[in-house]
Amino acid sequence: MFKQAMRHWEKLTCVTFMEKTEEESYIVFTYRPCGCCSYVGRRGNGPQAISIGKNCDKFGIVVHELGHVIGFWHEHTRPDRDDHVTIIRDNIQPGQEYNFLKMEPGEVNSLGEPYDFDSIMHYARNTFSRGMFLDTILPSRDENGIRPAIGQRTRLSKGDITQARKLYRCPGRSVYCV
Ligand SMILES: [Zn+2]
Repeated sequence: MFKQAMRHWEKLTCVTFMEKTEEESYIVFTYRPCGCCSYVGRRGNGPQAISIGKNCDKFGIVVHELGHVIGFWHEHTRPDRDDHVTIIRDNIQPGQEYNFLKMEPGEVNSLGEPYDFDSIMHYARNTFSRGMFLDTILPSRDENGIRPAIGQRTRLSKGDITQARKLYRCPGRSVYCV
């Protein structure tokens, strides 16, 4: 399933995951008390852990964690998120508020891509909620009065693919078909 998730990135972007040989820096799938967690991007040299806990060894979640590894933050922490979602602080589990902090424009670069509700890097409406039916993130209504769905863990969104291709300067679309 880790392989399946890596192949998903490879199929849709020019990012390639290779079996380690002599390399000094590499990622290791492991289990840490934090559950499902990864650093964003490369942290120094040597092995870098990508922790996959028992409740998260699912295809979409591993694709999400690999997104962190290759450089993606959570979509709802973008500096422009307040134009697209409302964070409901009262519904956040005490101690988890830091997961909803907005980043500064100097800390993250979305490479000109618009806010993406469909991103695999977006939290769901009730992520870190005090109760299953309490929203922590409420998407703003679109022109039709509909709140877009958030938190899918099925596949990379079109926006995820475009942004990863830009970040890794992938060759033209003719080579990688979606
Ligand atoms: Zn994450």
